[in-house]
Amino acid sequence: MDIKATDKEYVMGTYNRFDLLIVAGEGCYCYDEKGKRYTDLTSGIGVNCLGYCDAKWADAVAKQAHTLNHTSNLYYTEPCVKLAKALCERTGAAKLFFANSGAEANEGAIKVARKYSYDKYGSGRNTVITLKNSFHGRTITTLAATGQDVFHNYFFPFTEGFRYVESGNIKALKDEIDDTVCAVMIEFIQGEGGVIAQDKDYVKAVRELCDEKDILLIADEVQTGVGRTGTFLASENYDVKPDITTFAKGLGGGLPIGAVAVYGKLRDVMGFSSHGSTFGGNPVVCAGALEVMDRLDDAFLAEVRKKGDFVRKKLEGAKGIESVSGLGLMIGVKPSEKKASDVVREGINRGVLMLTAKDKIRLLPPLTITEKQLDEALDVLLAILAE
Ligand SMILES: *Cc1c(COP(=O)(O)O)cnc(C)c1O
Repeated sequence: MDIKATDKEYVMGTYNRFDLLIVAGEGCYCYDEKGKRYTDLTSGIGVNCLGYCDAKWADAVAKQAHTLNHTSNLYYTEPCVKLAKALCERTGAAKLFFANSGAEANEGAIKVARKYSYDKYGSGRNTVITLKNSFHGRTITTLAATGQDVFHNYFFPFTEGFRYVESGNIKALKDEIDDTVCAVMIEFIQGEGGVIAQDKDYVKAVRELCDEKDILLIADEVQTGVGRTGTFLASENYDVKPDITTFAKGLGGGLPIGAVAVYGKLRDVMGFSSHGSTFGGNPVVCAGALEVMDRLDDAFLAEVRKKGDFVRKKLEGAKGIESVSGLGLMIGVKPSEKKASDVVREGINRGVLMLTAKDKIRLLPPLTITEKQLDEALDVLLAILAE
C-alpha cells in the first residue's frame, strides 16, 4: 500500500504532514520505511517521555492488556486507583479524575471551576480569564479558552465566558476581574505560543489576586507537566500552588490520557453524576502511566535539569541563534537568520526531528535521551543554523 497517498485519500487533511513515514522507534531514535534513522527531539509533541517503546513501559502495558484491557468506570480497577494515588501524593493534590487528552482535561478543569463557583455564589459567576497567546486545546470550549484570534474562526458559536489578558501585566488582570470571574487559567510556559516562560513575580501576583477574590487558579500543565521542565510539575519552579492542575501529553508515556487534579477546598466539588468518561482511567493506559510515575524520581529529574542546562549552554550565543528560551527539556530556539519551519524541514533531511512554535524551533526531546545523543543531534541543528 502507498501509505502517503492512501492517507491523503482517507484521512482528513487537518495536518500538513511532513514527507516522512515512521515505522518503528527505540529510545530517542525512530526509523522510516527505508531504515533511515532519525533522532527525535519532539517526543511526539512531549508525549514519549521515556522515548520510543521503552522496554519496561511496553512490558507493563502488554501485561495489563493481557490481564484486563478495559471495563467501565462503574467498577473499581487497580491501575486507575494506583495512578490516582501516585499522582496526588506526588503533587499534593487532593483528588483527581481522568480524561483522555489535554483538551478534555482542560474542559474538565473549567467544569470544576464553574461548579465550585456555582455551588458557593450561585449563577452568573462563570467567566474564565486566560492569557493572550495561550493554547488550551481544540474543542469548541478550549478553542474559546485559547487566547489567540487565529483559533476563533469557522466554528461559531464558541462557548461563552472567556476573556483574555496580556500575560506579565498584573494591572491588566486586575482591571479585567469583576464579580463574574470564577477562574484564571495559565500555562507556566506557553508551549505552542513560542516556549515563553511566565515571570515568577507575575505568577505570584496572580496567585495572590486569586486568593483575595476566591478566584481559582487553573494550571494547564498539559505540556509542562510530568518532568518536562526538570521538576515533576512546572508549578514547583514557580513556588505556587494552583487550585486545579491539568495533565495529559507526557503522563501516559505514549498512550492517550489526561487528568484533572484539584487541591484542598475543591476536593468534593465534583460529586456523583457531575462528570464521566467511558475511557478515562483505562487500565492499560494507567499501567503505562504508572511506569512513567515510577521512573520519574528525584534522580531522574535532576538529570533532566542537567541535560536542559547542557542544551542551553551548547546553543546560547551560537551562530545563527538569536535567543534560547524555556526550562528543563522544553526548549525554544529563535533563529536570527533562518525561518524556523525551514530549519525543521532541513532537519528531517539530515536525520533530526524538531518542532516549531510560532517563530521558534521547539525541542521536546524524550526525557531519557543521553547527553551524547543530544550533543550529536544539536550539532546537526547548529550546522543548519550556521549555513
Ligand atoms: C497540547 C496541549 C493541549 C491540548 O492537548 P490535546 O491532547 O491535543 O487535546 C492543551 N494545552 C496545552 C498547554 C498543550 O500543550
